[in-house]
Amino acid sequence: MTEAVPSPADLLIVNGDIVTMNPEREVLVGGAIAVSGDRIVAVGSTSRLRGAYRPAVVVDAAGGVVTPGFINGHQHLTIDTLVGSCVPDAWTSAQAIRDWAIPMGRMHTGDDEELGATLTAVSSALNGVTMVVEAGSVSNPERLARGVAKVGIRATTGLWGSSIKGRPFSGSADEVLAHQCAVLDAFPPGGMVTGWVTLIGHGTADDDLMAGAAALARSRKVGMTMHMSPTNADPELYLERHGRRPIQHLKDIGVLGRHLLIAHGVWLDDSEVDLVLDTGTAIAYCPWAYFRLGQGVSRAGRHAEIFLRGGRISLGCDSANAGDQTDILRQATLAAGLAKDTRIDPSWFGAHEVLEMATIRGAEAVGMAHEIGSIEVGKAADIVIHDNSAMNWSPKGDPVTQLIWGTDGRSVRDVFVAGKAVVQAGKCVTVDVDLLQRAVSEGSLDLLRRSNLTVPYRWPMIPST
Ligand SMILES: [Zn+2]
Repeated sequence: MTEAVPSPADLLIVNGDIVTMNPEREVLVGGAIAVSGDRIVAVGSTSRLRGAYRPAVVVDAAGGVVTPGFINGHQHLTIDTLVGSCVPDAWTSAQAIRDWAIPMGRMHTGDDEELGATLTAVSSALNGVTMVVEAGSVSNPERLARGVAKVGIRATTGLWGSSIKGRPFSGSADEVLAHQCAVLDAFPPGGMVTGWVTLIGHGTADDDLMAGAAALARSRKVGMTMHMSPTNADPELYLERHGRRPIQHLKDIGVLGRHLLIAHGVWLDDSEVDLVLDTGTAIAYCPWAYFRLGQGVSRAGRHAEIFLRGGRISLGCDSANAGDQTDILRQATLAAGLAKDTRIDPSWFGAHEVLEMATIRGAEAVGMAHEIGSIEVGKAADIVIHDNSAMNWSPKGDPVTQLIWGTDGRSVRDVFVAGKAVVQAGKCVTVDVDLLQRAVSEGSLDLLRRSNLTVPYRWPMIPST
C-alpha cells in the first residue's frame, strides 16, 4: 500500500469553525479549507487536509469563525458615498433626492465614480462583503468597475435609466435600453464585475421602458434591479395612475420574474406577496435604510414571512445616507430583531435565517448560488475569517447566534475573494487606504463645491483658533 502524495494547493485555511452554509448547514469545528486558483477544492478536518495538501500559503484561523463572503443585494456605490452623513438626519428620502442626489448626480464625474466605488468596495470588504449589487446612480460604469477591480470584490453594474424628462439618466425607452445594452456588452457574465439592467424604478419609467428592460434582462440572461415600495408612496402613485398596486401592474406588463431583484418591497399587500412568490421575483431587504428614513418597515414589512415561504430575499445596505454602513451583519441583526419584535414572538425567525439571507439564500436571490454563498467544493473561494480574539467573541457560544447578536463586521479579520487576499489582519491589502482617505476628503469637498451644496450642520460648528 502506498501513501497518497499530497496535492498542491495555493491556500490552506486551518483551525477555523467553518460555517459552511452547505445544504446540511454543517459547522466544521477546527476545520480547514483548501483553495486552488479561485476555487475551493476541499473542505474537511484540519488534520486530514494538512496531510492531503502541500499549500503555498497556510492561514491559521486560530479558532475563529469562518463564513462564506457576504452578499449585499442593494448598494449605491457612488454619489452619496462622497457625502456620507452630510444630508440632514431629519430629512425624508424625497427631500434628500431632490436637494442632494439630483444636484450631485448632475455634477458627478468619472473621477467621482471611481473614487466613490473604491471607497465603498474597501468598506464593504472590511465588513466581509464580497459581492455587491450596484443599485444604480452610475454615469460612468467603466470608472466604477475600475474602482471595484482595484479592491478585488465582486459587483454588478448598470447605467441608471428612467423616462422622466429633465432628470439625469432619462430618455426614451429605446435610448435608455441602448445604454443598458452597451453596459451588458462591456461587462459580460463571468467577470468580477458584470452588467445588469438597472432602472431607478418607483414611478420613473413608462411601461415601454419597464417591459423593454425586463425583456432585455431575460434575453441576455442577466439580472435586472430597480426600487419599488420602500414607503406607501409607490402604491398610492400606481393606484392613481393605473388603478392597480405596483407589483400587480408589473405582473400585468410582464416585468416580474426570476431575473428581477426589487429593492425594498416593504409596502406589499397580500396579493403582491403572492405575486412575488409565484413569479420567483427577488427582493433586496435593507432594514437600516427604512429605520434611518422612517419608512414604516416595522408596520408593513413582510420580508421574514416571504423568506420562510420560500421567497428569494437578500440583505442590502442601500446608500451612505440611507442605511449608511456597508455592514451586512448589522442589517442581519436588525432583520432578525424586527421579525421577532413585530410578532412579539422570538421563536419563528432569527439569527440562522438572517445568516442564510446574508450568504447562500442571498446568493440565490442575486442569481449566483451556483458560484458563491457557501463553502463547498467547486465554489469560488470567497471566504471570511472572523477574529475570535475580540472581546465580544469571549466566551464562544453558538457561532451563528454570536455572529448575528454578539458582534458585527468590525471583527472581520481576513477576507479572500476568488482565492485572493483582500483583507488581512483587519486591513485592506489591495489599495493604499491612507491615500484613499485623503483623496476621499478632497473629493468630497470638491463635489460639494461643484454641486453648490453646503452641509447644514444642525448644531453650531465652532472652529478652533
Ligand atoms: Zn437604493
